[in-house]
Amino acid sequence: MRAKRGTESQVQHCPVEKRCGGCQLLHLPYQEQLAMKQRKVARLMQPYCTVHEIRGMESPLRYRNKVHAAFTHRKDGTILSGIYEEGTHRIVPVEDCLLEDARADAIIRDLCSLLQSFKIKTYNEDTGYGLIRHVLIRTAHCTGEIMVVLVLAAPMLPSKNNFVKALRKLHPEITTIVLNVNDRKTSMVLGDREIVLYGKGFIEDELCGCRFRISPKSFYQINSVQTEALYAKAIELAGLTGKERVIDAYCGIGTIGLIAAKKAGEVIGVELNADAVRDAIRNARQNGIKNVSFYQNDAGRFLVGMAESGEKADVVFLDPPRAGSDEAFLSSVVRLAPERVVYISCNPETLARDVAWLAKHGYKPQGCWPFDQFPFTESIEAIALLQRSNRESKPDTYVKLSLDMEDYYRSKDAKRKK
Ligand code: SAH
Repeated sequence: MRAKRGTESQVQHCPVEKRCGGCQLLHLPYQEQLAMKQRKVARLMQPYCTVHEIRGMESPLRYRNKVHAAFTHRKDGTILSGIYEEGTHRIVPVEDCLLEDARADAIIRDLCSLLQSFKIKTYNEDTGYGLIRHVLIRTAHCTGEIMVVLVLAAPMLPSKNNFVKALRKLHPEITTIVLNVNDRKTSMVLGDREIVLYGKGFIEDELCGCRFRISPKSFYQINSVQTEALYAKAIELAGLTGKERVIDAYCGIGTIGLIAAKKAGEVIGVELNADAVRDAIRNARQNGIKNVSFYQNDAGRFLVGMAESGEKADVVFLDPPRAGSDEAFLSSVVRLAPERVVYISCNPETLARDVAWLAKHGYKPQGCWPFDQFPFTESIEAIALLQRSNRESKPDTYVKLSLDMEDYYRSKDAKRKK
């Protein structure tokens, strides 16, 4: 556990900590937060394997590279930005958040004044009246690129060119501005349609020696400093020698698979979000990585298809959302019979559940490595390594799904059976 001198004993304060609910652990000094997370992972994972010491941050503030704010206005018309009070449509005004990138917060503060001077009305979720719904800002840790996504209820921003000019004048560090149209009654932030107002429509960042393109709707780890360490550990645990056939499941923009590709024979990535898959394919090209292929599909379905056609793999990385993986996926992993499974998780509860399932079906948990990706919040990231036992083990349940594997079979590489 490491924390910079000073931060470990300090308790942070925020004027909206009660109403916002984003920082559940603000009342605890950082070292105590780490100890609490360590205990939680130990409780869930120690029944299966050794839990190593959690890796904390040296400077645990301002780590969020993705910042999201909604807009509202006072009775006198003053525009305010903030976040939704938990479980409600009420917006708690937040000017400066301890976890967010300071550049993003400064842009949002100025956006409020600009919206007001351009007489752009804030959207009301209950009445459906108004134009601007949210802003999403992504800052690239290494390259310094900044993306501003303005989420509007309709595809028209009045005085668009002047608005963009004024915003860029105040913040020349912004490298791209995108208008996203969300005209549905939904609590989802982003809609489907995007119009690039300035720049290339995405940002690029670097992680573990690769460069990644990140589109507004693609997933990207929000804590870049910790992600470097997390991925480096995951790839080290995979024990790659240059020959392996690797699966990167729930691959997002291809980060783990592309970093691993340099040390592997072949990498197959699968991801549900079409924008992320597009980013992944371009990322492979941009980094000159040729031994990878990416598929847009449900990870479980895709793996069932691979298993049914008798494919094999040497290493499987999986990095699913909070809900964890499913039995279709896990039972197919067992049939693909990789030597090692490297499970990266943002929810130790579903991690423990899935590790327990794999442990029953021939995969021996070798250890668990927690990472503090989200200081001051209750969330915990962790990696578990599982190794195939020698005894043959067959899963008792196979989930049969109808498959849409055409893309997969069309690929020449993928046709090659081991
Ligand atoms: N490995 C990536 C992304 C991890 S986040 C990274 O570290 O950046 C989890 C990813 O799983 C998201 O990109 C999400 O779009 C994707 N996802 C969610 N459900 C899925 C499913 N059923 N099948 C495949 N991918 C899924």
